[in-house]
Amino acid sequence: MKANILIIEDNEQNIYLVTFLLEKNGYRVMQARDGREGIALARRSKPDLILLDIQLPFMDGYAVAHELRQNGELGNIPIVAVTSYAMSGDRERVLAAGCTGYIEKPINPETFAAEIQQYLLTSKTKHVQEVHND
Ligand code: MN
Repeated sequence: MKANILIIEDNEQNIYLVTFLLEKNGYRVMQARDGREGIALARRSKPDLILLDIQLPFMDGYAVAHELRQNGELGNIPIVAVTSYAMSGDRERVLAAGCTGYIEKPINPETFAAEIQQYLLTSKTKHVQEVHND
């Protein structure tokens, strides 16, 4: 029953920290180090949530989110961007690109897992409502 989370992130320290925090809270973690690999892995494994870094090699997080949203099968998966506090304007752009929300870097280890859980719960509730409305 534990959720599968795909992290698309190129910074080894962030990969290590995020993986540690998520696994400690019982999540299963898959890792991709660039956008292409992330999109391929998302299509193959259909994760419950995608954690997406914005500054990535080859294609940035905006392009990754946009492409993930083009794929009908992946359309409902929450995509949570990880944005730098310093980059003003990032938040509007990540939402416009199709992300569900964002978490600011540096991430807060105390609250990170709870924030992820909230996105998972919200997406489930939304799905139930959509089904109910049909
Ligand atoms: Mn990065």
